[in-house]
Amino acid sequence: MSNTFHVLFPRPRPQLLSIVIPLYNEEEVLSVLVDRVRKLLAELPVASEVILVNDGSSDRTLKQLYELAGDDPRFKVLGLARNFGHQIAATAGLDASAGDAIVLMDADLQDPPELIPLMLAEYQQGYDVVYARRIGREGETAFKRASAWLFYRIMRYLVYKDLPQDVGDYRLVSRRCLDTLKEMREMHRFLRGLVSWVGFPQTDVTFVRPARAAGQTKYPLSKMLRFAWTAAVSFSPIPLRLSLFVGAMIFSVGLCYTFYAVARLILGLYLVRGWTSIIIINSLGSGAILIGIGVLGEYVARIFEEIKGRPLYVVSDKVNFTSGSESSVGREQVSRKD
Ligand code: UDP
Ligand code: MG
Repeated sequence: MSNTFHVLFPRPRPQLLSIVIPLYNEEEVLSVLVDRVRKLLAELPVASEVILVNDGSSDRTLKQLYELAGDDPRFKVLGLARNFGHQIAATAGLDASAGDAIVLMDADLQDPPELIPLMLAEYQQGYDVVYARRIGREGETAFKRASAWLFYRIMRYLVYKDLPQDVGDYRLVSRRCLDTLKEMREMHRFLRGLVSWVGFPQTDVTFVRPARAAGQTKYPLSKMLRFAWTAAVSFSPIPLRLSLFVGAMIFSVGLCYTFYAVARLILGLYLVRGWTSIIIINSLGSGAILIGIGVLGEYVARIFEEIKGRPLYVVSDKVNFTSGSESSVGREQVSRKD
């Protein structure tokens, strides 16, 4: 966690608490989720809104959300026009939230809503960001646990020195933190990295991460890998430097070999051999070049995508939002800084 020293100013409870929940094909878990959230809302001493973002689900999630919002105006529905991915869906929900304190959590109850009062207590102490830190995980495969463990270690070491360990996207942020976040409109988003970039006083509450309440994970290995890659290259030039480093290493080996070959030639030790070494050097060299070009291409592709300046998401459904304050595409909310 950041070493920056902050003076904490205790503050009153938020006037309004926003809870943002992205959902993608969560029809199986929705009713359990709503029960748990309702129970929490009944106990919370603050007025709350729950923003349910349908991330282009292909099942009946949206239909159920409409029914829910029809019964209970505290539940607001934001439907995206297609599947934009968790980080963008979360962004859409954060953009639409009106609270002084905003909590982002998963739909599958792996982020227990019961932590929210603890987060609020820290918020009142003066913290702007309160992470939920996992001190254990239940019901997840050994592979998922190991990959998550490795992911956080590598990211901390290489990219985000301040990235808290074993912290997902479940967190409370203050209004001023969110307003800063909303100015960061990059398409390839790694929200946790963005939040730690913002700074402000941060702390954590701990919990044991339970298994999914129902349904399957919406993060298969391919999405996890893409997410990890975004995390690595969206904040850091290290992969670019790595390719330079590898290229330089291979070049120096090639240089040594060149001296050696020339020396043999001069000393008359020349023999028509060395086919193997030529092949090895050739393939190593071209491999290194291709890696370098590939990494470069990855950055160029990202520059290309960012420069288009598209909205991050498109909203197709909106229920229970008071009219006027929100726009229908993700960019109008906060204009891009040109
Ligand atoms: N999610 C989403 N869009 C996606 C994938 C996932 O909004 O494209 C939501 C999903 O509904 C859930 C949260 O992101 O609320 C986390 O997903 P999941 O629990 O499947 O991930 P895991 O906990 O397995 O990493
Ligand atoms: Mg989950």
